Amino acid sequence: MVPVAKTSKARKNKRRSHHALTRPNLVACPKCGIAKLPHASCENCGYVSGSVALPLKEQES
Ligand SMILES: [Zn+2]
Repeated sequence: MVPVAKTSKARKNKRRSHHALTRPNLVACPKCGIAKLPHASCENCGYVSGSVALPLKEQES
């Protein structure tokens, strides 16, 4: 299929006005200070909350 009419710069730019990416909201891990996603376990130390921590997966080779 071939487009019937050329898409104007205005139409193209209006379509692309919704294409911007947003930065993920990052919070500092209270245990090790590395940036992590809120409400998620820390990938560096496994911290969840208080004394709860997920076991970190050993790297298998
Ligand atoms: Zn951490």
